[in-house]
Amino acid sequence: MAQTSLLEPQPPRKRVAVLLPLPFPCPLDYAAPPALADSLPPGAIVSVPLGGRRETGVVWDQTPLPPDLTPPPPPEIADSRLRAVSTLVDAPPMPEMLRRFIDWVAAYTLAPPGMVLAMALRPHLLGTQAGPRSGWAAAPTLPEGLRMTPARRSVLAALEEESPLSGAELARRAGVGAAVIRGLADAGALLAALLGPIAPFAAPNPDHNPPVLSGAQDVAATALRALTREHRFSATLLEGVTGSGKTEIYLEAVAECIAAGRQALVLLPEIALSAQWMERFARRFGVTPATWHSEIGQRARRLTWNAVGDGSAGVVVGARSALFLPFRDLGLIIVDEEHETTFKQEEGVTYNARDMAVVRARLANAPVILASATPSLETLNNVETGRYGHLVLPSRHGGAAMPTTRLIDMRMAPPPRGRFLSPALIDEIGSTLARGEQAMLFLNRRGYAPLTLCRACGQRMECPHCTSWLVEHRKRKILCCHHCDYRQPIPETCPQCGAEHSLTAIGPGIERITEEAEETFPNARVLVMASDTVGGPAAIAEAVERIAQRDIDLIVGTQIVAKGWHFPHLTTVGVVDADLGLGGADLRAGERTIQLLHQVAGRAGRAEAPGRVLLQSYAPEHPVMEALVSGDFRTFMEEEARQRQPGFWPPFGRLAALIVSSENPEAALDTARRLGRAAPEAPGIEVLGPAPAPLGLLRGRHRHRLLLRTRRAIAVQPILRQWLAKVKISAGVRVDLDVDPVSFL
Ligand SMILES: [Zn+2]
Ligand SMILES: [Zn+2]
Repeated sequence: MAQTSLLEPQPPRKRVAVLLPLPFPCPLDYAAPPALADSLPPGAIVSVPLGGRRETGVVWDQTPLPPDLTPPPPPEIADSRLRAVSTLVDAPPMPEMLRRFIDWVAAYTLAPPGMVLAMALRPHLLGTQAGPRSGWAAAPTLPEGLRMTPARRSVLAALEEESPLSGAELARRAGVGAAVIRGLADAGALLAALLGPIAPFAAPNPDHNPPVLSGAQDVAATALRALTREHRFSATLLEGVTGSGKTEIYLEAVAECIAAGRQALVLLPEIALSAQWMERFARRFGVTPATWHSEIGQRARRLTWNAVGDGSAGVVVGARSALFLPFRDLGLIIVDEEHETTFKQEEGVTYNARDMAVVRARLANAPVILASATPSLETLNNVETGRYGHLVLPSRHGGAAMPTTRLIDMRMAPPPRGRFLSPALIDEIGSTLARGEQAMLFLNRRGYAPLTLCRACGQRMECPHCTSWLVEHRKRKILCCHHCDYRQPIPETCPQCGAEHSLTAIGPGIERITEEAEETFPNARVLVMASDTVGGPAAIAEAVERIAQRDIDLIVGTQIVAKGWHFPHLTTVGVVDADLGLGGADLRAGERTIQLLHQVAGRAGRAEAPGRVLLQSYAPEHPVMEALVSGDFRTFMEEEARQRQPGFWPPFGRLAALIVSSENPEAALDTARRLGRAAPEAPGIEVLGPAPAPLGLLRGRHRHRLLLRTRRAIAVQPILRQWLAKVKISAGVRVDLDVDPVSFL
């Protein structure tokens, strides 16, 4: 036999391309063993040998992409060197739509496709392990001679109210430990029972509680319903001031989608803070939606993944990673607060979930709705050029007026030395509290003070690993780096000159404002809301509840208080440092400051009492401040557009950043310079840099930046690919690509 095969040419082995969740530039070829040859269609999950180990990957078929985005073909592997697929993994295949989406994201961001796959595959593999859920019901007749205790009685009483219940839920409701339930089961008083679908996967009822809509709202809702019915790709900006009822209106599109039997995905910028959003959804549809974000547990993750895959989860509300769920029939995507920079993932695969949501919708032939009170210039430009539709809600819902906004010129009437609240602001808050209303102080800076300085020698306390000052957290008695989380105790003596008690806090953080507010308003009940003080979603929900119940008079918060909350008794908002976001070289500093402060201002006066907003500023003539006072964002954005247009800054041109970093400063500089020398040269293409990054040192890595800027008609991806192919990257040096950068640090 061996001789025959030597004489006769071997038939070519059947090949399959397998994409592995690893940073390779393309899928790898494997041989399909005869036994598996017919069971390896694209999407099949397989185990393959790689070096000396096994890896799990997906049988891949390449997406036809636009020429600009098409990666170079992979090198051919000779038949003789092919290794065979080991086994077919018992998991549902990855749907084609998701494979197309992964290819798109990889091609657009220039991330290795395997790294994009990794984001989708991890939950996919979890999804294979979920079985039906079982719980406990009471036996029809209790066994004779059952010894009753108060704990056992409490378990049986809980099951009389609702049955069956999962073990954990039963223990919680009865207020007993797991041993009590086990004991009852062993005694034959409880029987195992299969549980129905858990609440997040119960079907939302589109007719449960439809809203009563007014003129402009009705027009917008009808238009969105029509687009959703059409079931083809479209993108629409839904623009309306805070409180204008955007959520109610896009939920009508969701209702239409559910009625058509398709699935809807809603992306929120801060999913962990969405308790109030969930309530609104439940009021409208009678059930809560499925959720997807990093804080849901392993089991919920498995169940959700399965429910999305088999279509039993009708609506998913999630963070950006929800885009990678295996929807069975996606009929609608909504991106709420589309201008939020949190949609941009900055670590690993750097993608903008807002933009990739548009791609996902296009692949699914579904409409996408982008909602915002202060749309990004990118989205406004897409409206202007006719790529996106536009629906506008002109006023606040329910007759509530927009708050009035007033500037406090800090040069004219500054606070006393070492203080940060001006007399005018203190007056206004004092009278608000006297009327029994709530007030809020906003400062987007955690900790006590952003800088600690030695009065004797001028030494500034800096992070040893980053180009960054250490932020004092006085309550925790530490100095902390907000970039790498390095922390040290607050020293007694200056580490530079040895002077005692010479270290002074410079500038305010939220802790310091709280201290000042408590001294100024000793009778006010103060609540501090910052990401590092309130804790997880449950704690935040509790804080919000206390505010709604009027257990709180004065809220002091960072940007987490800005996010879509409805505080009916809050009438006065004071912005401690309205100029804070305007420093630095960020292209969008003005736009972002407007977006954030408008959102903060929107917390005031959402019920009957009129709201007022006070902005403390040292630059009250700045166009951002003028726009905040007049409420005329359109004029401000038109001016922004006029400034960006001649230089071809986004959205009139395209940007991609190259961040060169290394622990070795010379190696980083050398690679950055060689990249600079090899920079592409052509009409409409420009390279800025290399230059030391503003964050020149981050987590011990020395960083340089280059910025590629092209005319809008020129795609950056092929240019970047060719550019990087020309330069050898030294060992220990990393070049991170950031297409459409949002951060310039
Ligand atoms: Zn000193
Ligand atoms: Zn640091």
